[in-house]
Amino acid sequence: MSQRTAVVTGASSGIGAATARALAADGWHVVLGARRVERLEALADELGGEAHYVDVTDPESVASFAAQVSRCDLLVNNAGGALGTTSIAEADDAEWLRMFEMNVMGTLRMTRELLPAILASGDGIVVNIGSIAAREPYRGGAGYNAAKHAVAAMTRVLRIELGGQPVRVSEIDPGMVETEFSVVRFGGDEQRAADLYAGMDALTAEDIAETVRWIASLPPRVNIDTMLVMPRDQVSAHVVHRRD
Ligand code: NAP
Repeated sequence: MSQRTAVVTGASSGIGAATARALAADGWHVVLGARRVERLEALADELGGEAHYVDVTDPESVASFAAQVSRCDLLVNNAGGALGTTSIAEADDAEWLRMFEMNVMGTLRMTRELLPAILASGDGIVVNIGSIAAREPYRGGAGYNAAKHAVAAMTRVLRIELGGQPVRVSEIDPGMVETEFSVVRFGGDEQRAADLYAGMDALTAEDIAETVRWIASLPPRVNIDTMLVMPRDQVSAHVVHRRD
């Protein structure tokens, strides 16, 4: 069998970049997508993969990205994130819409575009990166909670609709992972992001990458439906143990 191909979105940083590394080390050909193409190209050179620009919030961009993908055995819908921590009373429509575009519509569009190739592979896998936010609402999280709950619902529906076909569908829900996620969420405030992880051991991007690698290494009969992965120091969205 020729080399299996994994498409990883949001591969320019954090979990996506680490996932691309882990999959390439496991023998996968990797196709990387994101907006910061210089970063993608550097990683693709290192891994012997391909790098293509994609903005998952733009349907045409997703279509032209998908047109460059000739084979897809594994799709990792990882591009996404949170914006802000505003309450519902002060919710900003633009922030909410952007979170839905990134996390929900981006995952929908990429999955829809690549599904023919995933089915044609004869043993396809779709891994959606959800979040603890998909399971537990928290103060200031409404927009992100709603978006990741939507990703969770879509993941379940995809699994139902693909029943009987040779495709596995998984959702990985991480707790706190120290990446660029919080810097983006806090509008570039690096100190606020650093404070969030102070005094506790957050997960690393590599920890989550390993779960994707493992899921994709299992025999076709095994579908890991959902996986909640938390730091030892984090018990729930609300309860984080910090040392002084
Ligand atoms: P990150 O370091 O900020 O990475 C986010 C990635 O998404 C970047 O590669 C970014 O690339 C890409 N992205 C954002 N908007 C995009 C767009 N419009 N089109 C294409 N790519 C886009 O954060 P991360 O922690 O690795 O996040 C990865 C996933 O894990 C996200 O879905 C996030 O919601 C989820 N997650 C994170 C945590 C956490 O604590 N870190 C916890 C639970 C779930 P470009 O900016 O180059 O486009």
